[in-house]
Amino acid sequence: MKQIVLMYHDVFIRDINESGFQTVGAIPYKVCANNFESHVKTIYKYCKDRGCDTSSIVFTFDDGGVSFATVISNILEKYGFKGIFFISTKYIGTTGFLTECQIKELSIRGHVIGAHSHTHPAFCDAAKMSFEELRYEWQTSIDILNNILGYQINSVSLPNGYSSEFILDSLEELGISNVYTSTPTTHIMKRRSLSIIGRYDVKSKTTLGQVMSIVNSPFVRMGYQIKNEILSMAKKILGNSYSIIKRNLLYKSN
Ligand SMILES: [Zn+2]
Repeated sequence: MKQIVLMYHDVFIRDINESGFQTVGAIPYKVCANNFESHVKTIYKYCKDRGCDTSSIVFTFDDGGVSFATVISNILEKYGFKGIFFISTKYIGTTGFLTECQIKELSIRGHVIGAHSHTHPAFCDAAKMSFEELRYEWQTSIDILNNILGYQINSVSLPNGYSSEFILDSLEELGISNVYTSTPTTHIMKRRSLSIIGRYDVKSKTTLGQVMSIVNSPFVRMGYQIKNEILSMAKKILGNSYSIIKRNLLYKSN
């Protein structure tokens, strides 16, 4: 069985303000704890019923919200899973985000800690950054985590999926081997010593049925991939207008 990587952000118990970024773009990614537990529990049961290894489903979490330590890790561990937690290091210790101690503790409990840039630039801002600025984003984030943990981290996830040949070269030089993207695919692309790994995003409106169809249906996964390719093409053709059109569509669909 191929490894299927799910991409979550924050999980909240009572209020979406509990953890992580509170921007308009971040809100749709906040999943309530009951729903999250139902995803983990059903995936656990799915793996047990089919005798497949639970490591074939990978739970990843972006941004560095405090819920990684207070909610998510506890639920994952209850069903025998470990998470991969990606942290934007500028926000460590600020309201709604993990502290250094919590990051260390997650690592000691067997979860993987990875970098998610330093400041978490928006896609359009990252696209305008100089090589020096991009290098600073990644080097700072990786150095801070290496210092907190006392070992070299080897995984990153790309904020808003923004990447470039320069970023990939820099990450390789900075000792990274696994780069997690926002592209919905199970295909792992090899680029010299880097493995570039796709993920399927789970948002607040993603139902348990949809999560399970990602897990068990190659046709559904292919559908996500095709939709993503069409959106990427639209992004290239429309440039900056894409975000405005996407935002308008998002509001209308709500
Ligand atoms: Zn992010």
